[in-house]
Amino acid sequence: MAARLRRQIRKSSMSVPRGVELLNTPTLNKGTAFTEKERDVFGLRGLLPPHVHTMEEQVERVLGNYHRYDTPLGRYVHLMSLHDRNEALFYRVVTENLEEMMPIIYTPTVGQACQEFGHLFRKPRGCFIAKKHKGNMVDVLRNWHFVDVKVIVVTDGERILGLGDLGADGMGIPIGKLALYSACAGIDPAQCLPVMLDVGTNNEGLLNDPLYIGTKQRRMTGDEYDEFVEEFITAATEVFPRALIQFEDFANANAFRLLERYRDRVLTFNDDIQGTGSVVLSGIIGALRISKQKLTDQKFLFLGAGEAGMGCGLQIVAAMVSEGLSEEEARSRCWFFDVHGLIVKGRDNLGEEHKPYAHDHKPTKDFLEAVKSIKPTGIIGASAQAGMFSKDVLEAMAGFNDRPIVFALSNPTHKAECTPEEAYTHTDGKAIYASGSPFGPVEYKGQTFVPGQGNNAYIFPGVGLGVVAVNATRVTDDMFYAAAKALADECGEEDIKMGRVYPPLSRIREVSAKIAAAVAELAYEKGLAQLPRPKDLYQHMLDAMYKPEYEDYV
Ligand code: NAD
Repeated sequence: MAARLRRQIRKSSMSVPRGVELLNTPTLNKGTAFTEKERDVFGLRGLLPPHVHTMEEQVERVLGNYHRYDTPLGRYVHLMSLHDRNEALFYRVVTENLEEMMPIIYTPTVGQACQEFGHLFRKPRGCFIAKKHKGNMVDVLRNWHFVDVKVIVVTDGERILGLGDLGADGMGIPIGKLALYSACAGIDPAQCLPVMLDVGTNNEGLLNDPLYIGTKQRRMTGDEYDEFVEEFITAATEVFPRALIQFEDFANANAFRLLERYRDRVLTFNDDIQGTGSVVLSGIIGALRISKQKLTDQKFLFLGAGEAGMGCGLQIVAAMVSEGLSEEEARSRCWFFDVHGLIVKGRDNLGEEHKPYAHDHKPTKDFLEAVKSIKPTGIIGASAQAGMFSKDVLEAMAGFNDRPIVFALSNPTHKAECTPEEAYTHTDGKAIYASGSPFGPVEYKGQTFVPGQGNNAYIFPGVGLGVVAVNATRVTDDMFYAAAKALADECGEEDIKMGRVYPPLSRIREVSAKIAAAVAELAYEKGLAQLPRPKDLYQHMLDAMYKPEYEDYV
């Protein structure tokens, strides 16, 4: 039996599928690429058109059909249907066309897909754990057909991208994130499990929608919610003891609490907090190579003090401390502005995570006034409020900075605090810009600027690969710092010349392997790795990657 087939069988509870069942098993299906011999052995004669195609020919067919759709959502549905039919072909197409397809399988299109998830629904993927499963979550997870799960991405759908509460329709996010784990870092798709904790929704539109796929109840809160999450974590670690659990798109208050509760107990991290912090820090390191300045001389003003904003603050402070500042000095260089205005000492509506950043300043609800008074070297938007980096704000930044850092991270695209065009125009080409969602190059006064995309996909797949490849026991903050530095090292002179603070996505597998090696190195240094150390960690990561190719089954 071929290696992949054997591995699949061992990893799952299934026996070798044959005939129609084999064609309906996306992890093994090759469609028209099944060879004559395989068609004989697995009872496929007559179930497929007679011509045997190569994978390359199949790719050509998929791309032809993909380009026939002229809306991003049409393309998303096309690709996801392929994902559900033939995973190797899906990953081959996506990895070979990642720059084009990342915005389809992830932000921004995945946001629209989640908003319409119940209406687009065709085939389930992953585990939906609902209130009615309370007390039986171990059994629910055991229904998943693969037993060797290495990465779980879990959401409760309460804060999907910048789109708010989408309830169980938020399942598109764990599915999309795990597709990126496989495409960007070669985590075997058979080892990935998307999970939706369906704790209800407060979205009136969904509660009144006959096609909504989730439980039509308001969200659980308080102890009931905490007990639900606790049962899930306990069950997941029992059924899949080696799995990394990534928390994704939980609402602010729960995200911070759950991270604190579980980070020292299980192998877990929160991508919105830690992954974002790491990718933004890496972009800042890249920006400082362009402006030839030191991190310790920077002062940042964040618009948005939620998961993303605070996650960036944590990483930047850690990096400044490692470059010689005291923690207090480092924090004094990070300012936050949220929906209630500037975070200052004495303000009463502050969360615990905000208090270390509440500095002496007169209160203001005017962002422009805050910019003019604080005079930051960089503004970082994570507020999901489009247009907040106005012409006046950008002009002010260019007034007191030679090369202002302007990161407009909010997703999806229409939520960005400013577009790259606005950033370059209103700063007369001085801004070093990055966004959360993809934007095309911009021509300004005869120069072409390529805006960087501070996409978490640069970080989380590599971190995930690093921890699972060495069977690490914990994910730590310094792993995200190591990941940020490893990513920044991959940004070449050519990228920097174009104003791009991240390497091109076309190099993502190599970049992820470098990040994974840096993370694994740290796991060995800290005694968190549980497997013998391979000689060459980078090569080990490359070798460990799932490759979207067909194997001969006979
Ligand atoms: P969150 O809900 O935790 O935080 C949002 C913050 O914005 C809160 O502090 C809120 O007070 C503030 N805010 C809301 N309205 C505001 C206003 N009018 N003025 C000032 N502040 C305002 O959300 P989050 O997880 O931090 O995500 C925020 C945004 O960042 C989302 O659009 C998300 O998609 C994006 N994001 C981007 C990346 C990336 O680019 N790599 C990563 C994570 C999140």
